[in-house]
Amino acid sequence: MNGNHLADKLAQTGNLSDEELTEVLLSEDPALGGYLAAKAREVRERVYGKDVYIRGLIEFTNYCRNNCYYCGIRSGNAHADRYRLDEEEILSSCSSGYALGFRTFVLQGGEDPYFTDERMISIVSAIKKNWPDCAVTLSVGEREKESYQKLFDAGADRYLLRHETADPGHYRMLHPEAMSFEHRMQCLQNLREIGYQVGCGMMVGSPGQRAEHLLKDLRFLQEFRPEMVGIGPFIPHRETKYADYEAGSVNLTLRLLSVIRLLLPEVLLPATTALGTVDPKGREKGILAGANVVMPNLSPTGVREKYLLYDNKICTGDEAAECIRCLTARISGTGYRIVKSRGDHITEDSFDNASDTLMPEVEGATALGTDGTALPQDKV
Ligand code: SF4
Repeated sequence: MNGNHLADKLAQTGNLSDEELTEVLLSEDPALGGYLAAKAREVRERVYGKDVYIRGLIEFTNYCRNNCYYCGIRSGNAHADRYRLDEEEILSSCSSGYALGFRTFVLQGGEDPYFTDERMISIVSAIKKNWPDCAVTLSVGEREKESYQKLFDAGADRYLLRHETADPGHYRMLHPEAMSFEHRMQCLQNLREIGYQVGCGMMVGSPGQRAEHLLKDLRFLQEFRPEMVGIGPFIPHRETKYADYEAGSVNLTLRLLSVIRLLLPEVLLPATTALGTVDPKGREKGILAGANVVMPNLSPTGVREKYLLYDNKICTGDEAAECIRCLTARISGTGYRIVKSRGDHITEDSFDNASDTLMPEVEGATALGTDGTALPQDKV
């Protein structure tokens, strides 16, 4: 059976055997990626139309108590220039983002003990009070279930916690003894039980990763059925033990985006900044492979170059308005359109109503926000 037949089978049945999925992952057939992407686009358009959702990313602390071996802001990196945003600065970023059309704010940071439940509750409550039509996504690592519950009660809607790898042995290669695979998985279960829309995901091409690990990742995603999946290529950081390792493959990342879209048709799937870092057209290619979310940076420009999980990260110097203008043009060039929406997960039950929730037709990037701030009422 050639690769295209496997792509057809995956699109028709929503699944493949272990052997077939492995064949897709390892295939060197250059045509397979394009064929898989076409199938993935059909599925994403059936569920989400042509819409691409934006998330305003606010990287509010690069302090972290952990020492993940691959990460540029791990606690053991004495050269990281540490910073924290205070509540006022975070709210100011949200305010600018709201004016630009963002309706989801993602608060992302290392596991920083300074941000106690009390401080996080205050921040989340203030965002929900000021902008009640917006969703708040948290991405602040592992916490106890009670803590997740308090933040949910304060108004947080979604939580991103990459599982990084579904294989315990591989997890141990990437993380020190103080961290636990079981605890990471338990955190994901806890988030689900509480009622968050949950995102997980993994790096593609991380040190020691083999096809069998990716297969386990895909099986885990099928079983856990997260509302969001974030994947991007591994990119080395010079201050880590994996500094000399090669970055993950763009083509494999794109193929995985398509496979994940076909396995989980309704998933929210970002074309990540990491993908745009290893390939100048990476985010556009990600959208064309089945992704439907982009996450422009809303952090103040003064701190962006300090939040370096990996080297050579893009978009560390531009103002938020410039970022959204650039992305709007890029996405428009793919035939898709950025919309002003919370961009919630659509369940299979709501497929029939999906068109009711979508925004009206966009007029095109050239009409949008040419001064970088004055964007249309219903689009950014
Ligand atoms: S990957 Fe996350 S938890 Fe690990 S060191 Fe980096 S910021 Fe901390």
